[in-house]
Amino acid sequence: MDSKSNEAQAYNYNGYAQQPTAAYGGATGHPTDGYEAAQADQTRYSYDQFSTQAQQVTHPTEQAAWNGVDPQQSEQNTQYYAQPTAQAHHNGEEYAAAGYGSIGANSGQGEIHNAYGASGYGYNQVAPQPTMQPVHGGQLQPNTGFGPQVPAPKPKKEERIDSSQIPRWSPDDKTDEPLKKYYTRSGASPPPSTNPFIAIDEGNCSPRFIRMSTNYIAQDAELVDQTKLCIGAIIQPLAEQTNAEEPPPIRDFGEQGPIRCSNCRAYVNPFFQFVDHGKSFICNMCTAKNTVPEHYYCNLDPKGFRRDRNDRPELCRGSIDIVAPADYYDTPVTDPCYLFVVDASYPSLMTGLLDTALESIRDSVDELRQSCPRARVGIITYDQNLYFYSVKKGGKEPRLDVVADTEDPFVPVVPQTCMLPISDEKEADLLYQILELIPKVHQFNHVADNTGMPKNDKRAFGAATQAGAMLLEKIGGKLILVLSKLPDHGVGKLESRDDIKLYHTSKESTLLIPQGSFYSKLATFCAQAKVSVDIFACPNTYVDLATLSQLTRTTGGQIYYYNSFHAHKDGEAFHRDMYRNISRYTAFQAVMVIRCSKGLSVTQRYGNFFAKEANEMEIPVIHCDSSFGIMLSHDTKLDTKEACIQTALLYATPEGERRIRIHTISLPVTSTLCNLFRHSDLDTIINLSLKQAMSQILYKCSPKDARKALYTACIESLFIYRKYCSTQHSPGQLILPEPLKLLPLATLGMIKHNLFHSGQSMDERAFETALVGSMPTYVACSFVNPCLFSLTDMPDFACVEGKDGRVFLPPVLKLSSDSITEEGVYLLDDGRALKIWIGGSAPQKVTDQLFGTVQVVEGGPAVLQLLYDEKASPTSLNARVWNLITQLRRNCPSFKTLSIVTRNTHTGSSSLDVCQFFDHLIEDAARKNKWNSKDLGTKSDGRCGEMSYIDFLCYIHKGIQDKFF
Ligand SMILES: [Zn+2]
Repeated sequence: MDSKSNEAQAYNYNGYAQQPTAAYGGATGHPTDGYEAAQADQTRYSYDQFSTQAQQVTHPTEQAAWNGVDPQQSEQNTQYYAQPTAQAHHNGEEYAAAGYGSIGANSGQGEIHNAYGASGYGYNQVAPQPTMQPVHGGQLQPNTGFGPQVPAPKPKKEERIDSSQIPRWSPDDKTDEPLKKYYTRSGASPPPSTNPFIAIDEGNCSPRFIRMSTNYIAQDAELVDQTKLCIGAIIQPLAEQTNAEEPPPIRDFGEQGPIRCSNCRAYVNPFFQFVDHGKSFICNMCTAKNTVPEHYYCNLDPKGFRRDRNDRPELCRGSIDIVAPADYYDTPVTDPCYLFVVDASYPSLMTGLLDTALESIRDSVDELRQSCPRARVGIITYDQNLYFYSVKKGGKEPRLDVVADTEDPFVPVVPQTCMLPISDEKEADLLYQILELIPKVHQFNHVADNTGMPKNDKRAFGAATQAGAMLLEKIGGKLILVLSKLPDHGVGKLESRDDIKLYHTSKESTLLIPQGSFYSKLATFCAQAKVSVDIFACPNTYVDLATLSQLTRTTGGQIYYYNSFHAHKDGEAFHRDMYRNISRYTAFQAVMVIRCSKGLSVTQRYGNFFAKEANEMEIPVIHCDSSFGIMLSHDTKLDTKEACIQTALLYATPEGERRIRIHTISLPVTSTLCNLFRHSDLDTIINLSLKQAMSQILYKCSPKDARKALYTACIESLFIYRKYCSTQHSPGQLILPEPLKLLPLATLGMIKHNLFHSGQSMDERAFETALVGSMPTYVACSFVNPCLFSLTDMPDFACVEGKDGRVFLPPVLKLSSDSITEEGVYLLDDGRALKIWIGGSAPQKVTDQLFGTVQVVEGGPAVLQLLYDEKASPTSLNARVWNLITQLRRNCPSFKTLSIVTRNTHTGSSSLDVCQFFDHLIEDAARKNKWNSKDLGTKSDGRCGEMSYIDFLCYIHKGIQDKFF
């Protein structure tokens, strides 16, 4: 083959560009054949022409750059550069510039010769610097010798990829531009979930509330099946907004209640079409014609819109809060109740858990008195007995009742005497008295009996939880459980069944199946009583979270897990988690219904809720972090221009008002594959894929099968895109659609994640499974692809508060040990925790500022702490690093702990922390040496776990090619 013409073809390829806004709402008339459609689109939007003329690259632009190496000339390191002109303009705002990555290879050989990367999709905040790394001669950089002792990869003749040019997450926010605005009816795909933006509700709700996996809806099931992309959404009905965003307006329709479709019960929304001079409306969900009630009548303007359209939020906004009429609920609103059930057995005393919990409760109550004056608070403690604290009406002292029958527990008090209204000064004082009394009640629990064993080393956790649920049965509320060890006494006692002999076997997943039926029945009881359960698990050994997590999963609760808890180590995280749990926006007695346009239905739901009826999700307590996933499927072919998803959440506010929060999103229906790919949303796909894989691991398959399913889906999707949407006839190139250009990296991140590997402790696995089930999208992204920052090489703009209060993050480094040097200090955010790595030769002045004058190289991780210097100037390194940490911890459902990781340079020894740190550097090939702490899979699953990012791209490419032949 003529290499030059081949090359010209490759560079001429005009993948696609963001579709202009004009396409929105006009999705009809597309050719039905995918391939023809691609050509049609290409003709229409051919503004992505590459220059075929080779030029020496000097400065890749920030906008987008295609740097590649000519297959035939790579020894000379010739680079080609083309300036794309495509940009997506949306109401004057610009989003992700069209970029395009492709990897050329000799057809049939599976060898990658060229790599083109493009900036565009951002991941974190701002960096005004060029995002492209210098080009390094088309070969992998040799390892620096630091960190894991990776042998430098042997230069393979065929491996000529410039690793700095393959697609990666890159900063998107610009310091010299105002904060980006996202107009929800602009037709553009939402900005990345991890980027800062201001959502402007133009009729569709903000992506913070509903974020779709594709922003076009497929016309029929065959189209969806073809793409192999999951079609669904992540719903976060009470998500936090920025200060610049308007909260959903509140509408009161009076006793008549909101206007709804009499056929499908959809709520009034901007897509109801008013006809017959305003006397009727056609429902956008089911196309039924309804009569407009007299009190709601308004005539229409010449364009057919109601004249009062812009005055009524329900007719122009995608999110509204409706005051619920009395007939929407059958029970009166009760005061928000918070019942703490705290472990006071021997290990709880010895690890400082009891003291930490009591202090955290005290601070949380202080906060509740400000934020939720209607709240009532009560406490139960337990060891092998149950301890109830109550105050008689008008009483001045707390009273203690002890229940020893933990096989059939009962509640010796009534809610009126033990759930204290904290807004009342006297009652709050009594609660503080109880908190002071508790350590005295349990002070002898660490004293040994005559056998030398502690007297109270048993925990009647099941009985305490059951008693708590019974106490709240009539009033609902939050049950907050604190646990130090496996429940081993009374009802709900569990066996220690963590059999490591089953690890790495086909029976491993049986350890995730809950023990017995006690906790599943208790969970159902709680859900029906409108009680949510949160668990703070602080064990030193196996605690069977697989069984206990049923309580949180069914009731809308949250689980926190501090492995090997000790107050010194985990006290701060526990305290901060408890504080956020109590202080975040919380609503009670919630029920959510999700409706879709006729022809679509919800087939799968993920998250923490109780499925009462087919389409009702009961959520006893819902908060701003509560997040749910749904999968959609087609019942019939859609015959409308747009399809709609609407969520309705009936809930009680902390102030005691019943509201219905409505979120509506209406999207164009398409008959072309390319529109689905072009408007797909990687962040949502990552989150849904994780949820889907987790639910499969739990019930159907092994981690290995889940891994295989993930990369098979990646290959299938890219194959379909390649086959039907790409105009490049030769299969010799890996073509990545712009919105999915990071799909291979995200897939690699998933299959390398601990979640998908055997050998992790069962509690850790059960915890992460629970975490993923209710994980918001912005957390899922860094969970899969951690962020690595250099603290010693930050640009001046980074981590300093600007005039408008914005704090920009430093550039994100490549997730490879190549990015790490002995002279540097680095911070890694893996979505759950933050880790600082200190190089052995880090400058003394840097380490002094950050960690004090401790001898870094001699010290182990335990003695090092990041100093907090209140007096530090705002531009000092110390203040900037704290700014960065604060920014990364913002809006997270649980507190990201900070650990310091160092390697003893004298002995060369490394801790588990070091291994875990390097495990996160997913672009590296895994190493079969002391650094490798993971089961990496076997040959039969493609050894994907071992692969470097480049290897993985080759593997994906080969997989696609194999499908062609
Ligand atoms: Zn309807």
